[in-house]
Amino acid sequence: MAPLPNSIEARDIAHHFHPFTNARRHEEIGPIVMAKGDGVFVEDIDGKRYIEAMSGLWSVAVGFSEKRLVDAAVKQMAELPYYHSFTHKSHAPVVDLAEKLINIAPVPMAKVHFTNSGSEANDLIVKLLRYRANGMGEPRRKKIISRLRGYHGITLAAASLTGLPNNHASFDLPIEGILHTICPHYWREGREGESEEAFATRCAAELEAMIEAEGPETIAAFIAEPVMGAGGVVIPPVTYWEKIQAVLSRYPEIVFVADEVICGFGRTGEMFGSVTYDLKPDIITVSKGLSSSYLPISAVIMNDRVYQPIADETARIGTFGHGFTTTGHPVAAAVALENLKIIEERDLVGNARARGPRLQDGLRRLADHPLVGEVRGVGLIAGVELVTDKEKKVAVQPPGALAAKAFGLIQERGVISRAIGDTLAFCPPLIIEDEHIDTILATTREGLDALA
Ligand code: PLP
Repeated sequence: MAPLPNSIEARDIAHHFHPFTNARRHEEIGPIVMAKGDGVFVEDIDGKRYIEAMSGLWSVAVGFSEKRLVDAAVKQMAELPYYHSFTHKSHAPVVDLAEKLINIAPVPMAKVHFTNSGSEANDLIVKLLRYRANGMGEPRRKKIISRLRGYHGITLAAASLTGLPNNHASFDLPIEGILHTICPHYWREGREGESEEAFATRCAAELEAMIEAEGPETIAAFIAEPVMGAGGVVIPPVTYWEKIQAVLSRYPEIVFVADEVICGFGRTGEMFGSVTYDLKPDIITVSKGLSSSYLPISAVIMNDRVYQPIADETARIGTFGHGFTTTGHPVAAAVALENLKIIEERDLVGNARARGPRLQDGLRRLADHPLVGEVRGVGLIAGVELVTDKEKKVAVQPPGALAAKAFGLIQERGVISRAIGDTLAFCPPLIIEDEHIDTILATTREGLDALA
């Protein structure tokens, strides 16, 4: 039904160009306009309530009505609403947050540089690695290996790291020097008769072969999410990370970047995905759960061997020529600090660990459904991949049409998931309780039944 003239929906269609949206389709159907949130729920302007089973965009860890974050923002706004960190300036929230991130990091880290989004954090890493290579007198060491279906954001460099066709198509991406290796999705990528273990070995061998083919002296870094999120929630084979890190240990000059933008702060049932999978990264990027997305903030956390050559280069050149007006924004930093305090005080990481099995087991019970191909997940992140032919593992064309329909039917029934290709993703707030999980599970089955 076309929106009424002058309604907010009509005005949205008239003036608002949406991110990650089919613009022509939007002109036809318009938006769902959200008005408020409480706990794990959001409510639209017509008063319809939804369980936000995606935490917005994988990010609202503490739920949609955390007054302590509001109070932290108001207090900081009243005291010092803005100051920058250029040319030796600082303020308490940014110092406290940097220190806090170093203290809770899963491996010894040295410095934190702030940015405003996950994309900007990963974009900065591309710049940092170039800067560092120049600083070390190794100007050829600039290539970065990422993975097909990895998601690292949408700025020119971050979108290039991303290994998804939609983020490259018509943008003339990727930029030069970004390579993509195999996605560790056994169910899709494993060969006929290949065991999961053998598949993990092949993933590691392909990474090593790429390093050798390019020349190890040209590779600056390998970047990966502990669990792929926006690529369709891909849980790596059990021995994948052990084998990948064994390859990296043979090339100690290659920096290992863990993109923890989704996994960071409890999502996998540990404070970091790097803890769940025993990763030893040199750089960690965080955002989303850092402030529960109440305000935009992200961070690049790096160890000394990354930082020192960069610092030397700043001295040689005269300054580090990078930073945003809003880098390390005091209000965002104050909100992030309070958010981390809440995550610790309420043991939301423990809650993710405790409730995760109820979500994962419940979703796995959907595996008997005629439209479900694979169910995968860890902690409070999960994916349900839909198919119309279980044996051939294919869905109706065009790709994504099946999950888009399922998503719509589930949303109509009051649960917001996310359709990624033909996978339905679930990533609820870390405050979730059993009754909400049960509603998500029942509603998902109802939606799928309505489609079958
Ligand atoms: N890295 C990962 C793993 C992400 O999931 C995302 C966003 O979904 C990003 C980076 C980009 O973050 P942002 O959307 O804040 O730019």
